[in-house]
This record gives sequence, C-alpha cells and structure tokens, in this order.
Amino acid sequence: MNHFEYRNGVLHAEDVPLTRIAEEVGTPAYVYSRATLTRHYTVFADAFAKAGLDATICYAVKANSNLAVIALLGRLGAGADVVSEGELRRALAAGIPPERIVFSGVGKTESELRFALETGIHEINVESESELHLLSKVASGLGQVAEIAIRINPDVDAKTHEKISTGKKENKFGIDIDKADAIYALAASLPGIKPVSVAVHIGSQLTDLEPYRQAFRRVADLVDRLRAAGHGIVRVDLGGGLGIPYDTEEPPLPDAYAAMAASEIARLNCPVMLEPGRMIVGNAGILLSRALVVKPGETKHFLVLDAAMNDLIRPALYNGHHGIRPVAEAAADAALQPVDVVGPICESGDTFAKGRMLPPIAEGDLVAFGSAGAYGAVMASTYNSRLLVPEVMVDGDRFDVVRARQTYDALIGMDSIPDWLHTDGSGETREPRRIGATG
Ligand SMILES: *Cc1c(COP(=O)(O)O)cnc(C)c1O
Repeated sequence: MNHFEYRNGVLHAEDVPLTRIAEEVGTPAYVYSRATLTRHYTVFADAFAKAGLDATICYAVKANSNLAVIALLGRLGAGADVVSEGELRRALAAGIPPERIVFSGVGKTESELRFALETGIHEINVESESELHLLSKVASGLGQVAEIAIRINPDVDAKTHEKISTGKKENKFGIDIDKADAIYALAASLPGIKPVSVAVHIGSQLTDLEPYRQAFRRVADLVDRLRAAGHGIVRVDLGGGLGIPYDTEEPPLPDAYAAMAASEIARLNCPVMLEPGRMIVGNAGILLSRALVVKPGETKHFLVLDAAMNDLIRPALYNGHHGIRPVAEAAADAALQPVDVVGPICESGDTFAKGRMLPPIAEGDLVAFGSAGAYGAVMASTYNSRLLVPEVMVDGDRFDVVRARQTYDALIGMDSIPDWLHTDGSGETREPRRIGATG
C-alpha cells in the first residue's frame, strides 16, 4: 500500500498534488512519501515481532541513501546496512548509532575497514578469505577485536533477474557454504577477529519464499555445526531482498516472510538481523517527469520525457517495469494506445517502456513513474551532462526538497584543464571558464 493516489482528478503524494511539486521544484524530480516509508518499515518490524524473533532491522542504505530517508527510518528504530565508506558516512550523518550499523560488501579497502573499526560499528560482514586476513591486520594494528559475520553463499537459486541474484555458486558474493567450516576455523585462529555471526543475502526482488527457506535452513544447519565446533555464534544476519509489486508480481507479505524465517531460525535461540532495502523504499517513491515531445510514428507513438535513463536506469539495466500514470487523471472511458516511453538521451537503451498502453498524454503533461523509491535516485548519473535530479519528501500537506537539483557549476566545476593544454604556453594555472562567470 502507498500514498500516491488520485484525488479530484490529480495524482497526489499524500495530501500534496504533484502539480504543486512540479511547479515549485521543477521536473524531473523524485518524490518520497513519509507515510509510506513509515508504514513499510513498521509492517516489516511488526511482522518479526509477531513471529517472536528478536530482530534488528538494518535498512540497506544502497536502495535509497538520501539522508532524510535514512534519518526517518533511524527515528523509527532502524539500523543501517552499508556497503561503502560513503554509505557509512551517510548513515552516521543521518544519526544512525554506530552500534546499529553493519558493513557488507564483496570488496572493502583497507582504509574503509579502518574507518569502520575506528567508528565502532556493530559488525563487519566478511566476504572472502583475503578480507579476513586484511581485517585481522587492521584490527590488530588498532588494538581491537572486530566482531564479524562471514557471508555465506548458500548456493540457492533466488529465481530473480540474473543481475540481482547473489546466492548461487557462480555469483561473486560470499564464501561457498562447503568451505564455511574451514573459514570459521581460520577466522577464530586470527588475531583481532571474533566470528560471532553467519550472514546470507541471496538476491533482490525475490517473489517466492522457497529460496529463502532453503538458504535459512542451510544457515541454521551451519550454525549448529559451528557451535558444535566451539564457535560462539550469537546471532545471524538473514539479509534483504524481499520483492515488491512493480507490475503483476505478488511477493510474499512480510508476515509470511517473518513466520517462515522464525520456523527455520527460532530454534537457534538468538537475535537476527535483517537488511531490507527495496521493500521499505521502493513503493514509497515516484519519479515525476514532463512530456517534452509526442512523436507520432507509422506503427507506434513515441513519448519523449524530460526524465531519462541517467535519472532512472532500472528499465535499461534490468528490464525493470515501472507503472506510468498521467498526473491529470484520464477519463474513465479514455482510449488506450501503445506508446514507447523514452528519454532524450542519445542511446536507444534510453527507453522506459515499449508499447505501453497509455491514455492520451500531450506535450507539457506531467507523468509519474511508480515504484521509483528504490534503486532510482541512488543510481542516477550525469550522462549527457544532465543534472542530478532533486529529491522531495512529502509529509501530509507539506513537502521539502531533501536534495537540491545539482547546479551546472557543480556539474562542470569538478573538471579541470591541465596547464599544458593552454595554448599560450605560459604554464599558469587557469580556472576553467564557467557559465555565467565574467572574464
Ligand atoms: C542490496 C543488499 C541488500 C538489500 O537488498 P534489497 O533487495 O533492496 O532488500 C541487503 N543486504 C545486502 C548485503 C545487499 O547487498
């Protein structure tokens, strides 16, 4: 359930008509609903409480790393799952206490590990033998003992898109479950490291509980073996990945997911950590865009928007489906036509939807892409030197810009022209010319 609905013929975010946001902030713009974010987090957390598990929910920051989103979830009690120093810094800046932060990721640098240890985060999820040795060295150097989980690759097929499947043997993530016992023995023998947990994360946009059940069962069996071998495994990390309805998918409800997790894990009698990302933020956001050009073709129409693949890359990257609705509600009897909805970028891949059945949309009309709260703004780039789009959060009848639209100075000002490319040969450093700058 979300809070993007038509009222009096105009699509609203909570109590705010999207026309108002377009007027004040411009387009394209991401719009998030505080009420939906709150609801999704609460439903998820309640499901685990009802299932009788002592669960810490570490929101996977990579799904949407806007400080306002992280801060809102933090206030509701969430921790953070981060995969880089940048995300760790964002989580801290948003007020997540270090003791609720988990650091995942298949390739962490020495300086990232040092920063994480100095910050005193809750746990580092180690994904390779090399990382184990590196972390041991860094932690020992700091005189610390790092509490770790080892991320296990349970070799189950998550039955999701190949680019977001992570729990099969052929994926780059985690350590093969067959090698897990040996790796824990190694970890326990190294200075500066204490293995206390087992972690899994088998993929994203899962719409079926069965792969989870298999993975959790393998985790529980592994914990039994590790405990029998003398390891003090005091918690488990079950990862994220629960899917959302983009189109016609019917992913399991959080209650069913939590009940299944409890049925596999409760006997371990220990706290669990969860790392949901998409499930919390995906349907709590839309991308608001304006139609620039309507291009009638022989066989089909093209609708060229002011949003492009650099703003929302999921369709190009994963064939991701996003619902597209006109902000002005179409008449109930409006005839639908097949339309290719595209962006202005010089790539044929800059296509949001092919042959989508849409009511008439005219040049200048506003449209909203649904389910754009996760893996939307965070994946944006400036390809074609387009500005990073702003993000807005709505709360009831008010809204705030939670990330300003990038400026052209910020976009161009990171570049510099080397002295030896200046034609006068003076060797003097010169500022690149800025738009609007004098001289
Ligand atoms: C991406 C990721 C998540 C979150 O996945 P969602 O599908 O957004 O829930 C959780 N844990 C890890 C380790 C991840 O890489």
